Amino acid sequence: MKTIGLIGGMSWESSLEYYRLLNKMVKEKLGEPHSCQCIMYSVDFAEFERLQHEAKWKELTIKMIDIAKKLELAGAELIVICTNTMHKMAEDVKMNLKIPVLHIADAAAGEIIDKQMKKVGLLGTKFTMEEDFYKKRLKVKHGINVITPDEQEREIIHNVIYKELISGILNDESRNKFKKIIDHLKTRGAEGVILGCTEIPLLIKGKDSSIPVFDTTLLHAKKAVEFALN
Ligand code: GLU
Repeated sequence: MKTIGLIGGMSWESSLEYYRLLNKMVKEKLGEPHSCQCIMYSVDFAEFERLQHEAKWKELTIKMIDIAKKLELAGAELIVICTNTMHKMAEDVKMNLKIPVLHIADAAAGEIIDKQMKKVGLLGTKFTMEEDFYKKRLKVKHGINVITPDEQEREIIHNVIYKELISGILNDESRNKFKKIIDHLKTRGAEGVILGCTEIPLLIKGKDSSIPVFDTTLLHAKKAVEFALN
């Protein structure tokens, strides 16, 4: 089994989910008492969140490269960045390593292509929904058209992520808002919806959505296990 290097703590609520899924999937593949060989570097999210909102992306990129190098030095054979948003600098991280970085959008794309969908909605932080790094990769590399909620809806999603989900708060009212936003994406032609923030699957399950969901935490972890065991 190869060693997976995880960059976590963004937030730890979703890193916990990665750790649980990785161990569960390795056990399912290899049998009891197997578990996932991995190393996690978990950051203090307070600092990272502040830098994100101050748009200090250069500083964040340097930090992410430094963490990934530490994981590589510690024996990681693959890097998994446990957040969609911080894939903004995934290419910079990749360029500075000898080991691969498993991109979360590629993990999502694999499943969307399997389901033969051409147009999907994207929920995530404002950074993920509004900037190019995620949508463009899906379009250019995988031929998937991505639509995002309208401005007011994006604001709601962003606030729920940073004010509730990263603190482990799961609120029925917020879940209902997400459901309405997904319904709206459906009326605009989305065949499925990417839960493009690793905490959203804690709030929204398949049964809460009128269209199929793509759980990026699950799909990313699944690809990591495939890599580790091949
Ligand atoms: N975990 C979230 C994501 O997947 C948001 C936290 C962050 O800003 O990294 O984008």
